[in-house]
Amino acid sequence: MPRLWNLTIPPRMKGFSLPRHSQAISRFRVKRVVTQAVAVHEIDGICTSSKAKRVGDRQMKPFIVIAEDEPSVSELLRYNLEAEGYETVTAKDGDEAILLLDERIPDLMLLDWMLPKVSGIEICRRVRSKQETANLPIIMLTARTEESDRIRGLETGADDYVTKPFSTNELMARVKAVLRRIR
Ligand code: CA
Repeated sequence: MPRLWNLTIPPRMKGFSLPRHSQAISRFRVKRVVTQAVAVHEIDGICTSSKAKRVGDRQMKPFIVIAEDEPSVSELLRYNLEAEGYETVTAKDGDEAILLLDERIPDLMLLDWMLPKVSGIEICRRVRSKQETANLPIIMLTARTEESDRIRGLETGADDYVTKPFSTNELMARVKAVLRRIR
């Protein structure tokens, strides 16, 4: 089933017209276009204007799973990502991460290489092998610095790779870059 997106247009946004933007919109298989106040239009007959619901900010925030067993690193990531406006959830081991992915597919995953129970590399492999998550963006986090590990991480299907200790600013920039690529 293709993914459907809600598109929120700020109220009274100038320059928005459906014909002008419909090509861009159809690329993203928009389920409905909603302003914060009123429905502008609806696409594919999925939602009529009378049924159009206000799309809350919460739904529009990119959702990021943080799979990291070091509490200080996990907390640092959570704090910074939420400060940047992302919605986050944390997993402290591989089993938890897999459960979270089954519950709700995120927009991006930050994945520690060395996780208890199920390793980051194994999670990455499983994510790529499942149709629903095959394209889920993954940024691997690892203390390893060797070139061979870096290559292995990317071969397993990570979209990007950050070595610990990392600069928070750099990681936030990479998160933005990866999310930009998929949107
Ligand atoms: Ca670890």
